[in-house]
Order: sequence, then C-alpha cells, then structure tokens
Amino acid sequence: MRSLDDLLAEGVAGRTVLVRADLNVPLDGARITDDGRIRASLPTLRALTDAGARVVVTAHLGRPKGAPDPAYSLGPVAARLGELVGTPVQAATDVVGDSAREVVAGLADGQIAVLENVRFDPRETSKDTAERAALAAELATLAGPDGAFVSDGFGVVHRAQASVVEVAEQLPSYAGTLVVDELTTLRRLTEAPERPYAVVLGGSKVSDKLAVIEALLPKVDTLLVGGGMCFTFLAALGHPVGESLLEQDMIDVCARLLKSSGDTIRLPSDVVVADKFAADANTRTVAAQDIPDGWMGLDVGPETVQDFAAALTGAATVFWNGPMGVFELAPFADGTRGVAEAIAASAAFSVVGGGDSAAAVRLLGLPEDGFSHISTGGGASLEFLEGKTLPGVAVLET
Ligand code: ADP
Ligand code: MG
Repeated sequence: MRSLDDLLAEGVAGRTVLVRADLNVPLDGARITDDGRIRASLPTLRALTDAGARVVVTAHLGRPKGAPDPAYSLGPVAARLGELVGTPVQAATDVVGDSAREVVAGLADGQIAVLENVRFDPRETSKDTAERAALAAELATLAGPDGAFVSDGFGVVHRAQASVVEVAEQLPSYAGTLVVDELTTLRRLTEAPERPYAVVLGGSKVSDKLAVIEALLPKVDTLLVGGGMCFTFLAALGHPVGESLLEQDMIDVCARLLKSSGDTIRLPSDVVVADKFAADANTRTVAAQDIPDGWMGLDVGPETVQDFAAALTGAATVFWNGPMGVFELAPFADGTRGVAEAIAASAAFSVVGGGDSAAAVRLLGLPEDGFSHISTGGGASLEFLEGKTLPGVAVLET
C-alpha cells in the first residue's frame, strides 16, 4: 500500500493534494462537543502543509439527505481545524461547485481548504457506480493534473463512497498516517494477539455487533458483555428484563452463542435499573436475574464492574467496543467509567473502538494515554475485526 511517506518522497510542494478526512464530530447545535476526530486528522494535514502542499480536505458530517442542510455544514469544523493548525482554513460553501473551485484556486503553498459536506451531493452515497465516479471526477479535477489523493478518513474506509473509493481510482492515491496507524494497530488484534485476550462489548444492540461477536468468539479467552445488548443475553437465559432494551428476534441467537461459548461469555451479575429513561429517574441496583417489572436496566452494577475489572487485570490484549451503560446520563455512567478505568490501569495492549466508546473516554475525563489506541472508526474497526474487506483500503492496494 502506498503511504503518505511515499507521496512526500515524490515531493508535494506546490501540488494540490486532496485529503479525505474523517471530521464527523458530535455537535450540539453549531458547538463541537468532542473534537477528537479533527485532532486525529492533524498529523497527515501538517505533514502535507509542512512540505508545501496545497491541501484540499473533503469530509462528511452527520447524515444529510443528499442535499445542502445548514445543520450539517462543515463550516464550524473548518473553523476549529484552523484553530488547531494555527492558520486560517478556507471553507468552501459547496462540495465541487463555484465556491470550491474559487477556494482551491486561492490556496497558497502550505494552506488548507475544506470543501463543504460531501454528503450534500447525492452522488457521494449513490448505489450507482457511474454517479459516484462522476462526483469523484469533479473532486479529482479540483486537485488538477499533478494532484494526488490521500485517504485518511479511517472512519469511512468501510464505505464504498465516491470520496473514499472512486476518487482513489482517479488520482494517484496514498494511505494517510491515520489509516496506516489504525490498520497496524488493529492487525495486532487479529494476527496472533497476545494472550489472554479479553474483549469488552457493550453499546445498544446485539444485532449491530453480532458479526463481530461471532468473528471474535473463537479468538478470545473472555468476552465481557454489558450495555444495552446484555439484556437480550439475560433474556436468553430466561431472566426477566423488565423494560430494558431487548431484541426479541435475537434471543435465539444469543441462546445459541451462550450454548456454544458459555465459558467465554461473561454477563453482568448486577445492573442499575431506572423507572424511566432520564437523568432524574429513580434508580436501584438489582441482581441481573431479578430486574423488576416496569424497570429498565441502564447500566451495569458495581459488582459487575469489579468482576469485569478482575477479568481484565490479567489480560495481555484488550479490545473494548460499546459503553457499559447510558453514560450520557450521569447516574448511568459509573459502569462505563469503572470498566474503562480497569482497562486503562491494566498493562495490556488495549484498543478502544467505536464512536460512542471513544467519546465516553473523553467525556468522562478518563486518561486517554491509559489506552494503547483509541480508534477513530467504529464501524470500520468492527468490520476489520470481522475480517471483511474494507473497500477504501482495498482500492489503495491496487
Ligand atoms: P459504539 O459507538 O461505541 O460502537 P454503540 O453505538 O453500539 O457504541 O452504543 C452506544 C450507545 O449505547 C450509547 O448511546 C449508550 O447510551 C447506549 N447504551 C448503553 N447501555 C445501554 C442500555 N443499558 N440501555 C440503552 N442504551 C444503552
Ligand atoms: Mg455508536
């Protein structure tokens, strides 16, 4: 795979380099609540500007419906990027239109421009390859005849989209630092991981994570299950789960997994239940098999945190995906905090995957350096661990 280093060795001074970054940050109105992904894009951008490239960033934000929508403008993100790099960053008001052409034409060597949210153009996510290729051609044209493409949005490499795959077919293309680092790290989880290997899974749904559970079960020594998904497993054991998140149609699958891998899978022994989904709910801690009628489990309990922490202490490799509870609401954040602290405290090679898990680490003020790696790509890291081909990576290998 050609990488940024190869491009820098060729020389980029005065050339226009199109970079697909992952700037999909959580927003509260126009306020960025976690700029982790912007920060993660800096090493590639800085290496290019330091070498005198004219850098054009294309990225998406949220899920606009294939048309401009001010709520998903990358404007605030471009402003934040400018603060972080310490020089103004030009923001285009369209994806590949007049504004984009004008902003790119105005770039001096070592400067950065950000194109508007690429998902404002319906061709980005079109199922029709020709439509995606047409948008990619317009992006490639912005880079000009001696342009190049750097794929650095690890969070989107599992997507067959115009700014990820087709554009890489149309310009000389290279993997950015973030993509290379992510792949190098994740390989340590699949190629001869050091044992014992423990995986902590949580988040909302079993159905989202079933493929990764099936792929990991034969490889891991322990699979600790918390979050919303644990209730479908508890239901599969015949326990009442009250109003907790439950996927009826997954109960059989969970029962089968427990039957075949019951020794590997570990479930919560206690849970924090609430009488409503709110920060001011009444709460109780109950045994996992005794969730009362009308109550919902919104976090794992303190005994579970201790039990999971004990299982994690001796691990040599840990992968964590998915919060243990509704950490966004303070009364239900302790399980996620406790388990995350145990991972951070362990000497294991530890990787956090998943957008919400990574956000939890930062929002709960956990020590980021306690983890060996915090992946910027939730879906992409899971698909990698499932052993799937990532189209945005495969195209860089051709
Ligand atoms: P990630 O993005 O890290 O892969 P997910 O998207 O799968 O994680 O899940 C994150 C969401 O799961 C969070 O918004 C959290 O509030 C929710 N969640 C965790 N535990 C529960 C629970 N017990 N009930 C309902 N939702 C939960
Ligand atoms: Mg998520």
